[in-house]
Amino acid sequence: MRQLGILGGMSWESTASYYRLLNQGVRERKGGLHSASLLLHSVDFAEIAELQRRGDWQAAGVLLAEAARRLEQAGATAVLLATNTMHKVAPALEAALHEAPLLHIGDAVGRALSEQGVKRAALLGTRFTMQEDFYRQRLAERFAIEVIIPTPAQMTEIDRVIFAELCQGQFRDEARAFYLQCLETLRDQGAEVAILGCTEIGLLLEGVAPALPLLDSCAVHVDMGLEWMLAD
Ligand code: GLU
Repeated sequence: MRQLGILGGMSWESTASYYRLLNQGVRERKGGLHSASLLLHSVDFAEIAELQRRGDWQAAGVLLAEAARRLEQAGATAVLLATNTMHKVAPALEAALHEAPLLHIGDAVGRALSEQGVKRAALLGTRFTMQEDFYRQRLAERFAIEVIIPTPAQMTEIDRVIFAELCQGQFRDEARAFYLQCLETLRDQGAEVAILGCTEIGLLLEGVAPALPLLDSCAVHVDMGLEWMLAD
């Protein structure tokens, strides 16, 4: 099994899901006592969130690139950056890695949507992920997916819930109801599927009956990691 590096802590609520799902995936595929061969570099999310807030993506890129480099030095054969938002600085990480590839979450999402034949997908995530180009453009250019985003007022609340609640381990009924309402609007605008483009949203919407089928970025990113680890 190839060893995989997880660059996580953004937030640790979803990094815990990555750890559990990667191990479950290895057990399902290999059976018995098999478990995932992993290295985890978990950052202090308060530092990253402050850099996001200040718009200092350069500093965030330097910090995460150094962490990715350390994972490779420690033996990781590929790196999973366990957040959608911080893929804004994916080029800095790719430049810092020598041989280990960065398994890009946007490619995991795009590939899964293409396999399902989806052309128009709604995107829920942080304001950076929903509004900026780095994520949507990748889906458009590499996978020909048209992305529909919520209204400005909805995006403000979706983003607030991510940082003030989900990343702090709070999963409230009010937030769940609000997200479900956003999904109805997005379905009415022609979205076929909703991308949960923030790795904590799946934890909030677990077990609900949404207006649209959901594609959880955390789950498909884990699948990509499993494929890498278990390839011959
Ligand atoms: N985990 C979230 C994401 O997938 C948000 C945290 C962050 O800003 O990195 O985007």
